[in-house]
Amino acid sequence: MDRPLVGQVEDLASLAKLDETILLDEVTERYAQDKIYTYVGDILIAVNPFKDLGIYGKDSSAIYKNRKRSANPPHIFAVADAAYQALLGRGGRQPGNQCILISGESGAGKTESTKLIIKQLVELCRGNTQLEQQILQVNPLLEAFGNARTNLNNNSSRFGKYIQLKFKDGHLSGAKISEYLLEKSRVVRQNPGEESFHIFYYLFAGGDQERQLGLGDPGSYRYLSNGARHLAKDLDVLSEQKADLINAMDLVGFTDQEQVDVFAVIASVLHLGNINFHVNDADDSTSVSDSNGPVKIAAKLLGIESSEVEACLTCMVNVTKGEYVKRNYTMDQAEDAREAMAKAVYGRLFGWIVNKINCLLVPDDQKLGASFSEIGILDIFGFEDFAKEGGKNSFEQACINLANEQLQFFFNQHIFHMEQVEYKKEGIDWTEINFVDNKPLLDLFLAKPIGILSLLDEESLFPKGSDQSYVDKLNKTFTNNSYFTKSPRTTLPEFSINHYAGKVTYTAEKWLEKNRDTLPPGVTELLQASSNDLVKTIFRGQITRTGSLALQGRRSAANRSKQRTSRTIPMNLDTAKRKLTVGAQFKNSLAILMERMMASTPIFVRCLKPNHMKEPGHLDSKFVLAQLLYTGMLETVEIRRKGFAVRPTFVQFVDKYKILKDLKLKGTSQDCVSILNFAKLEGWRIGKTKVFLKYSHVEQLTELLDKL
Ligand code: ATP
Ligand code: MG
Repeated sequence: MDRPLVGQVEDLASLAKLDETILLDEVTERYAQDKIYTYVGDILIAVNPFKDLGIYGKDSSAIYKNRKRSANPPHIFAVADAAYQALLGRGGRQPGNQCILISGESGAGKTESTKLIIKQLVELCRGNTQLEQQILQVNPLLEAFGNARTNLNNNSSRFGKYIQLKFKDGHLSGAKISEYLLEKSRVVRQNPGEESFHIFYYLFAGGDQERQLGLGDPGSYRYLSNGARHLAKDLDVLSEQKADLINAMDLVGFTDQEQVDVFAVIASVLHLGNINFHVNDADDSTSVSDSNGPVKIAAKLLGIESSEVEACLTCMVNVTKGEYVKRNYTMDQAEDAREAMAKAVYGRLFGWIVNKINCLLVPDDQKLGASFSEIGILDIFGFEDFAKEGGKNSFEQACINLANEQLQFFFNQHIFHMEQVEYKKEGIDWTEINFVDNKPLLDLFLAKPIGILSLLDEESLFPKGSDQSYVDKLNKTFTNNSYFTKSPRTTLPEFSINHYAGKVTYTAEKWLEKNRDTLPPGVTELLQASSNDLVKTIFRGQITRTGSLALQGRRSAANRSKQRTSRTIPMNLDTAKRKLTVGAQFKNSLAILMERMMASTPIFVRCLKPNHMKEPGHLDSKFVLAQLLYTGMLETVEIRRKGFAVRPTFVQFVDKYKILKDLKLKGTSQDCVSILNFAKLEGWRIGKTKVFLKYSHVEQLTELLDKL
């Protein structure tokens, strides 16, 4: 009866009663009123409006600056403010590193949220520095090279990123980006209706470059055959976006020469894609069809010899007992070699760009050993299932969805597991709240030696391994695993996984090859010897930094030195043994990321996608409810309603608030109680070593501090 009007509640944790219907009603009603943000305690829910709400301007920015959260409607800027205040140790928390974890399906609004958070953080610590301007340009810059139009999102992130903003004395002093698993395969192939990375279309968007880069009609490029249609329609938009990109590159600090080189490398990829082959009747060898055609332009742009490119793509040379033995490629092998080279060139370029940004944004005094506190923002590629859109899910989707599982696991750990363990340990009277634990699914993927990724590595090493033999192995191994389903079409290399966000069918075509990610012998050496500085650099691996999470198949120095320099390495096997597979690298980088997140205080943002059509003003109830349920929002509201999100130790609490009561207080439980009573708070608990508070208590205490 005393339930406030639907849609008026800004924090769902304050509702007296909650079930599926109420949860959905509240979110739906708020969305209808353009209130896309709602709190669940300290967690923010954001529903993508798919339209400009005019709520991110200077005015909004100002009202979310160092304010009590309840003073304003829920907003993404409040998350930035909370992170910044917490970083500085304001508001009852210990100062320290923060991380903001943004989750949601593809197209739910994670990347937009990331940009808004960074924009507001810059506002909060504003010193009007050049660095701030650079940091604001990083996202648009990366999006040009790492985002693409998919069937789920017109600007879909095809890589994951963790941006660490470094602060010193409350001011921004630098930033570092870690990138995860760029979907390189998109360079050579896209699902119907999808596009390649935005940058490829910018090539055709005006400027005098086109002629210099030997470019013709965009429709004539094999690698753009899906997206070319989009060009004629959007040329104005594209040239605007291209101008923005160039502006961003200028501001971040890419030199003119570097920019010219970047565009040349991008164009070279398109030319590589147009290389055709034919089989010679006489000896069954394969040759490049037109030596004066695309191969020549590609080689010129890459600063290498055209004849050498032809050689690398059509044959390999083995040394057996001191004798050179030439082995010709089949047509298929030559085409694979071409695709592998194009993907490698693009992947390395992307890695270089990220690294270049990191070098430009590294804090000045980092070398002097200065210490920084940081706010990390995680923006990964959202959960995706292209089968629903008539497409296929491949190795990339498996990795993307695994990353989302890992993030969901971290959320569960933090919100449910760790919190409830603490209640038990501290003797707090508590009725357990159950949640859906996705640990078994993570094990299915990550366990050694019997996990989806380990078995893939194993199969990748077998000379006779094939995508089908891999799937056969999975089918046999996981018969009794309830998260795994064999395909009814047993002749196809397919299988399904029951993810937290739904069942996804994967097609294992080319998984072994994608996992090995090896280059045809000789290609690396050829590119390392390029006369073009950029090309030389990106293939000499000088871009690897210690601790870099980049997944461009960069080898460690030790592995690199083992590499033979002549073109004598058989295509797949040897190199697969030498360097980590893509799956193994991804697994490692996820583990490093988790460790980093564990060492920070997390703040969660849950983005929801209102409908499949990317349309404003329309909320598909079934779809939104499904997202609310699979992310565990019902249980989250429950734990935030009954639980205690803020849990300082007695000493931490007294240190912070004794000024309210008596500076002589020491840090016993009685001292805490006396402060809490003095502040007239209700509903807190005292454990064995800690005080258990709700978010609202902290706000009330902060208010009292502010009045002093
Ligand atoms: P992916 O996992 O595919 O990268 P994502 O979660 O990062 O998806 P975004 O790219 O952030 O999704 O959002 C998709 C689109 O939705 C944006 O390009 C923009 O048009 C719209 N959008 C998202 N958030 C907002 C917002 N707060 N206001 C207006 N439009 C938005
Ligand atoms: Mg994104």
